[in-house]
Amino acid sequence: MPAFSQDFLKRRNADSKLSPSLHLTNATKITFLPMWMRDSYIRASKAPQDDNHKDFFYELILMMKNLDAPRHSDEFWMRKSLHLAKKAAEQDEVPVGAILVVDNHIISKSFNKKEQWRTPIGHAEVICVHRASQKLDRWRLSDATLYVTLEPCVMCAGMLVQSRIGRLVYGTKDPKGGGIHSLYQLSEDSRLNHRFEVTSGVLAEECGKILSDFFKQRRKRPMENDTDRVTKKKPT
Ligand SMILES: [Zn+2]
Repeated sequence: MPAFSQDFLKRRNADSKLSPSLHLTNATKITFLPMWMRDSYIRASKAPQDDNHKDFFYELILMMKNLDAPRHSDEFWMRKSLHLAKKAAEQDEVPVGAILVVDNHIISKSFNKKEQWRTPIGHAEVICVHRASQKLDRWRLSDATLYVTLEPCVMCAGMLVQSRIGRLVYGTKDPKGGGIHSLYQLSEDSRLNHRFEVTSGVLAEECGKILSDFFKQRRKRPMENDTDRVTKKKPT
């Protein structure tokens, strides 16, 4: 690894704190790469020291590396969401996992925490989107894709409309509560001020199986072990 000028390192650190939405797409990089190379080379050749030359070549290597970075498939991200759903099951939460991705980078992830946080809004999607907004310091997420193992409920589908989400990818359908296809079609309702692209059925079988296994297991459990039912008991 060559030594870089302090200026360059400072600039690099500042860049990494930028919103991931500012990361360029490959098409943009290819279009602007020749212009960028010309400008950088002019700057570097005018510089009195060697540092700028090193910076120029290092930046070039970074950019080329980025160009080669694979764009991950929907299955790739869903596999990660599924892993989070498994974590939820281990913590006795309904196994639903979600990941929010902007330009091939994970911005936030979560799983269902309704029981732990004792709140009806503790769905994986709500937590995930909230965390992403905090991290990006904005509520508009039109450049983001949310990957979630289960079809979002009406609350989460409404929240996705509010967040101006760019795209939703989900695993299995929820015939009893789905707000995207099963019961309501909130992503394509022309009465609302935002509509978004949806891809469904990604790893649907695995996403569905983890849920059915969880509920099968839960039904076997004696009633007194069910915290939810215990807390609902009225004091005598
Ligand atoms: Zn929900």
